[in-house]
Amino acid sequence: MAKVNLDALIPREDFEVKEPTHGMVARSMISINDLKEKDFFFSALRKPDFQRETNEWDTNKICDFIQSYLEGDLIPAVILWRSASGFIFVIDGSHRLSALSAWINNDYGDGDISKKFYDGIIPDEQIEIAERMRNQIRKRVGLFKDYELATSYPDKVKPEIVERAKSLGALAIQLQWVQGDSSKAEASYFKINQQASPINPTELRVLQARKQPNAIAARAIIRSGKGHKYWSAFSEENQLSIEEIAKEINKLLFNPELDSPIKTLDLPIGGKAYAAQSLPLVLDFINIVNNVSDGLHPDQDGKETIQFLTRCKNVAQRINSNHPGSLGLHPIIYFYAPNGRHKPASFFALTALILDFEKLKYFDKFTKARDKFESLLLKYDYLIQQIVRKHRSATASYPYIKDFYLRSIEKLLDEKNIDQAVNQVIKDVKFNYLTQAVEEADITGQDFSKETKSAAFIRDAIKTALRCSICGGYIHKNAISIDHIVRKEEGGTGSLDNAQLAHPYCNTTFKN
Ligand SMILES: [Zn+2]
Repeated sequence: MAKVNLDALIPREDFEVKEPTHGMVARSMISINDLKEKDFFFSALRKPDFQRETNEWDTNKICDFIQSYLEGDLIPAVILWRSASGFIFVIDGSHRLSALSAWINNDYGDGDISKKFYDGIIPDEQIEIAERMRNQIRKRVGLFKDYELATSYPDKVKPEIVERAKSLGALAIQLQWVQGDSSKAEASYFKINQQASPINPTELRVLQARKQPNAIAARAIIRSGKGHKYWSAFSEENQLSIEEIAKEINKLLFNPELDSPIKTLDLPIGGKAYAAQSLPLVLDFINIVNNVSDGLHPDQDGKETIQFLTRCKNVAQRINSNHPGSLGLHPIIYFYAPNGRHKPASFFALTALILDFEKLKYFDKFTKARDKFESLLLKYDYLIQQIVRKHRSATASYPYIKDFYLRSIEKLLDEKNIDQAVNQVIKDVKFNYLTQAVEEADITGQDFSKETKSAAFIRDAIKTALRCSICGGYIHKNAISIDHIVRKEEGGTGSLDNAQLAHPYCNTTFKN
């Protein structure tokens, strides 16, 4: 089921407020009108800046929730905390409030509030889901504007909407208030949210590390430098650098957008940009590139964040871009399974491999073995999956996959063919749990699944994919350079006959 992005509806704000809140008489109920865009209550609503994205609910859940609210079912109280600066922070209930406010403001991730939040750049996928959500709402409960219409022109809307609209004025949402300062509020937040819906450990990691350079960089990359500015405390100049580099990295990792089933080999190296796993994926990528783990000191001025981002940009360019040093690794060969699923473990392994190549000055050697190595990856993908299964997670398995890659390349450089190379590598104690047997999926249904459709496309499209004229490896459109067959220095002309396609690295560095 598609998850709806309601993240823009309640903006984030820095939670850290110095002085405790003064006593005040706070309201204990709100009604539906309090959630209109321009309302005093709604415009003061914030979520803590470390809160994860409000995108956990799918279209059914949102629809069910709005319906049960309209039918007068009891909705769990929303827990709030009022900061000294007057903001009202949602400690518990931001999905509930966002869903209702999405309905009232007709914004399921594609309306005016979202457009403002994302500076007008909303991914097609998000727009498509929002549209689907709206249709479902129209069918099952009706749009909010029809409820408004019902009060003055009851004959213009369906009778059941007129009926429900009458009770809308009496429906309320109960509020509870956390007393105390921001640390009290933060403690309540983590306590409540860990109990309610399990936050996965990586997510919790990003949340609690919100001032550390790797976490700031991860968020900047995920939102392409837009969205909430976790870097707003830094100088203007540093803020700008962070946003610019993050935008570039986002493009390198997530462009073009991934659609499923797969019907093109033009795929992003990082998989889906807006999936639940994309933030942890980016954070792990940053950590691998910068050789850091959790628990870093907060970044005081943004310099470290910029450093982290710059290194990531270099590695991403090396993997697949038009940059002169780029290997132009084809995503389908390196980062996707034969059924079209993105493989984070392989992505991390390749990242680590590139760092090794830099240290060992190994790029030329890799290029010599590249043609055969890519055939090996295609034929023996299931061995990589066995490594992932043994170590259970992408982050735990990637060092072993990298090792497997490196050893295979060495064997291939030793004039072994791909079967011999694999046979020798798996004889090593480190890899002796690997078995050369392809597991056939047990399929009894008659319809093709998305994965089977993707697999069929990939199987056939790879046969005619472009190859580099210099190394023989696959070429992807993000990293094509045109090479002079006879060099200019040797009298080569700019004629079509003298042009061939090559990887940027093969063309600029390897050939010389
Ligand atoms: Zn090449």
